[in-house]
Amino acid sequence: MDSGVSPYREGMRIDLHTHSRVSDGTDTPAELITVAKRAGLDVVALTDHDTAGGWAEAEEAARHEGMTLVRGMEISCARDQGSVHLLGYLPDPDHPELVEELQHAREGRIPRMRRMVERLSTDGYPVTMEQVLDIAGDGSTLGRPHLADALVANGVVADRQEAFDRFLFKNGPYYVTHYTPDPVRGVEIVRAAGGVPVVAHPFAPERGKPASESLLEEMAAAGLAGIEVRHREQNADAQKRLVEIADQLGLFITGSSDYHGTGKVNRIGENTTDPEVFAQIEDLASGVGVIRP
Ligand code: AMP
Ligand code: FE
Ligand code: FE
Ligand code: ZN
Repeated sequence: MDSGVSPYREGMRIDLHTHSRVSDGTDTPAELITVAKRAGLDVVALTDHDTAGGWAEAEEAARHEGMTLVRGMEISCARDQGSVHLLGYLPDPDHPELVEELQHAREGRIPRMRRMVERLSTDGYPVTMEQVLDIAGDGSTLGRPHLADALVANGVVADRQEAFDRFLFKNGPYYVTHYTPDPVRGVEIVRAAGGVPVVAHPFAPERGKPASESLLEEMAAAGLAGIEVRHREQNADAQKRLVEIADQLGLFITGSSDYHGTGKVNRIGENTTDPEVFAQIEDLASGVGVIRP
């Protein structure tokens, strides 16, 4: 592609998966944009869990910093005890089906958290719902990392990782499920809202069972556009197999950091997506546009 006219340049650094405090990251959306800029990224996507709540602040910061911003989200889906995370890029955040689904998902996380807190305190690990809500902050999607932070604050564990290893791991004694759409339904909703659905880290272990190949096939038939392949929780074998699956199903592949601030070791920009794939995402989207400085 020619430089100048086209917004896509060879060598552009593009990270399409990051979290702010509006879900379980530790940076504000504005701080996240600054971090992305300092890391030398040209394009960053904000993909908080189950919410578009950070978009406005990120947009303002992106304009200020001269950063290209892809507005997105990561929708928690599940089937048969296996959790599937679905990235949705550039959907219309006011699309009724999407709004309803996200609201349902976020609301369900409140009683679920209360039950996890109760189980822990019953077993003598001090933590209260009030404290977890306080840590999460108003309007952010409540998740296990906030409960982990409360356990850290109370001296029960040293860090988030220990909290997950000892208490919060999926399907463990303190794990409680919450409402999540089926992955095929997730793909349909993102598409209905004019967004571009990409399955996040489908072969990452420690998330219950990995997504099955037949489920990926079903999702592709429903309109899945891509697979996140380069992600630190997928090893070389997993990535190789995912590339083959993407080829078979006619899907593009992405690479991203899944940065969570200090909440995880993932460094922003540690994996990136090719400019041609970013161009495809922008072409396919009809919900909202990419923010360019
Ligand atoms: P939830 O959606 O409430 O079930 O929480 C899932 C979130 O926990 C994921 O999005 C991850 O960001 C985070 N998570 C999972 N495992 C770990 C871990 N070992 N350390 C820190 N965060 C984790
Ligand atoms: Fe997360
Ligand atoms: Fe995820
Ligand atoms: Zn993520």
